Amino acid sequence: MKEKITIIGGGLAGCEAAWQAANHDCHVTLYDMKPDIYSPAHESPDLGELVCSNSFRSNDPASAVGLLKEEMRLLDSLLMKVAEETKVPAGKALAVDRQKFAAAITKQISDHPDIEIIREEIKELPSSGITILASGPLTASDLADDLARHTGAEHLAFYDAIAPIVTAESLNRDIIFQASRYDDGPGDYLNCPFDKDEYLQFIHALAAADKVPLKSFEKQKYFEGCLPIEVMLERGDDTLRFGPMKPVGLPDPRTGHDAYAVVQLRMEDREGSHYNMVGFQTKLTYSGQKEVFRLIPGMEQADFVRLGSIHRNTFVCAPKVLLPSLQLKNHPHILLAGQISGVEGYVESTAMGILAGRNAARLSQGLTTLMPPPDTAHGALVRHLTEPLSKHFQPSNVNYSLFPPFDKKAFRATQPELPPLPNKKRRRSRISKRDKAAFRSQLAIESLITWLLSL
Ligand SMILES: Cc1cc2nc3c(=O)[nH]c(=O)nc-3n(C[C@H](O)[C@H](O)[C@H](O)COP(=O)(O)OP(=O)(O)OC[C@H]3O[C@@H](n4cnc5c(N)ncnc54)[C@H](O)[C@@H]3O)c2cc1C
Repeated sequence: MKEKITIIGGGLAGCEAAWQAANHDCHVTLYDMKPDIYSPAHESPDLGELVCSNSFRSNDPASAVGLLKEEMRLLDSLLMKVAEETKVPAGKALAVDRQKFAAAITKQISDHPDIEIIREEIKELPSSGITILASGPLTASDLADDLARHTGAEHLAFYDAIAPIVTAESLNRDIIFQASRYDDGPGDYLNCPFDKDEYLQFIHALAAADKVPLKSFEKQKYFEGCLPIEVMLERGDDTLRFGPMKPVGLPDPRTGHDAYAVVQLRMEDREGSHYNMVGFQTKLTYSGQKEVFRLIPGMEQADFVRLGSIHRNTFVCAPKVLLPSLQLKNHPHILLAGQISGVEGYVESTAMGILAGRNAARLSQGLTTLMPPPDTAHGALVRHLTEPLSKHFQPSNVNYSLFPPFDKKAFRATQPELPPLPNKKRRRSRISKRDKAAFRSQLAIESLITWLLSL
């Protein structure tokens, strides 16, 4: 007799989890409420529906999301296999024909001898039996209420508000200064000071920039605590100066006075190689963000590793409620997968489906759960969910700021010795972003393979 696993949600994460668990000696019952009930973004009766873009983003293995996909292929991902079969030309990205993709996923899942599909809305989490919850960012409301009862309402969110992240080395430290508000010490924040003209130029550009239109189910539903900066600006020219761009208690060391306005940057990783823009959640288009935010003094050359967004999203405060195995801490028979676990994006959601599916299978068989190494893209995502640096948890796409510090010594050891410069100083050129990424990616793949062989 095979162990039984229940999965709620036949989207990207749920289908992947079902595939993984069924291929690891379990019998899966997969529930989805379609076609009787559709979320505001779903419209196809098929499983594995892509609700918006048809792209899984970059396929370049040196990019963080390309690396994640490489790792998923090594983990026998169903979605990666089907994406390859249904792909359409998209340059360096992996994009698919969405109808063919969802139809092929549905067929593979339906044809699997150890997966049973039941089309039914689930309103409550089962009180026993290993269960994976993969009901996505638009989880139906009864189930979301029940999840809130299981996790504590304060640990379930319905919107995410993501601020951009920039690399530290792209910031101009001749302009940007380090200080915490009203603090004499060295300070934890980097501060970009504006004079009045710079501030006026910035807010005019912000008001004029292109915005992403809201979906009907997103309208007028922002929380006061996470308003987009452009919405704050609509309330008056000074609103930002009295909000996230407040300059008081942050004297500019060059003048000894508070600036007219300040953008604060908070450390995003332990080594301080990435910073996020405090309070800068936004609905500006990606190109609009780059254009406007490069007007911020000291950020003229800013290199963005993540851009800002706000959208409807049901997700748990993962660090409070999840174990690294993706089990709920206080209801360990329930595992979370997909966007609801606190990751962001198609690929990331699917990757959490792989881990939840495999861990559910292992739990049901009395085996220890799996935790991929932290220097892999899967490990970095789990680490983001379970040990974040920031007090305010927000979902994240995979990016290299989630990885352990870059090991320059290990990188240099792989490079040929360069001849000394005429002034006898050893040539130590800056390591390019591309070289860093390629090196991290290579290490991650080696690490994942070693880990898989050790299981
Ligand atoms: C409007 C919108 C657009 C997005 N666009 C993109 C994008 O372009 N690119 C990107 O990378 N990411 C995007 N995302 C984010 C995210 O990657 C996707 O939502 C992704 O589909 C999440 O995968 P999932 O498996 O967690 O959830 P889903 O793919 O949404 O699957 C959840 C499934 O659970 C079912 N379900 C829900 N409640 C119940 C219930 N009570 N009982 C039974 N079944 C239930 C649903 O019918 C659905 O089939 C978007 C999110 C939203 C909301």
